[in-house]
Amino acid sequence: MIVFKDVASLQEFLNKNNKNKTIGFVPTMGALHKGHLSLLEKAKVNNDVVIASIFVNPTQFNKAEDLKKYPRDLKTDLNLLKKIGCNIVFTPSVSEMYPKGEVSKQYDFNGLEYEMEGKFRPGHFNGVVTIVMRLFDIIKPTKAYFGEKDFQQLLIIKKMEEKAQKPVSIISCPIYREPNGLATSSRNERLSITERKKANIIYKTLCQVKSDFEKKPLQDIYNDVENLFKAHSVFDLEYFIIADVLTLKPTEMIDTTKKYRAFISVYANKIRLIDNVAL
Ligand code: AMP
Repeated sequence: MIVFKDVASLQEFLNKNNKNKTIGFVPTMGALHKGHLSLLEKAKVNNDVVIASIFVNPTQFNKAEDLKKYPRDLKTDLNLLKKIGCNIVFTPSVSEMYPKGEVSKQYDFNGLEYEMEGKFRPGHFNGVVTIVMRLFDIIKPTKAYFGEKDFQQLLIIKKMEEKAQKPVSIISCPIYREPNGLATSSRNERLSITERKKANIIYKTLCQVKSDFEKKPLQDIYNDVENLFKAHSVFDLEYFIIADVLTLKPTEMIDTTKKYRAFISVYANKIRLIDNVAL
């Protein structure tokens, strides 16, 4: 496994060694867990070369405190990547990725950016797409792998890639979960043992919604979820939405020709957890 810190040496290496090879790319912010590794496993199967990036992108954070607190452990991450058989790791500095200063480009995602996460994290997706497009320009992957855990991000990147007409296929990967159903996330490490145990309520609720969908009136489903979290001792509901998978607009009436997903965001103290399921 080779680790590159700067754009020039990575590109020089790729130009010399990887012409005519398919490149599977997994962008990450590090603090790697089994969810990230499931993306790398998929990339390994379908490409000649697997590249992972580790970059904590400042422009996608809304709160300076969150950026500061973001877990960083490069040594452990590199060990995990080596073990799994990743070929190349790109770990650039902020100045390498933002040579003209830490600002994100402004994009238009046809309204997708204003739904769900966009309401609570203004500017977040401009930051994400700025860095993903920069990484695509540097690495020129054949396929890039993104988790359905961040479904809105995945959809926005697909839209952006379509608009920019970059020759990269965006591959969506299922959510990897802990044995109790909690979607794997670096934030889970910040939960207390009790909070982590009780966090199974998030996926359990989504599974209940899935089983009630098309059987119960939508408003009853919304009320059930809201009431459950109102009474919950650990988790506060930030949002729960059943949305069309293409527009992410909350649905009021089910159209059987469309596909839907249920999305949830909850807080345990200051730790924000998100999850979603296909309905
Ligand atoms: P991050 O390091 O949080 O930016 O995540 C890097 C990639 O891993 C993103 O495409 C995420 O959607 C994906 N990811 C994070 N957690 C999971 C999970 N539990 N299952 C599947 N993919 C995940």
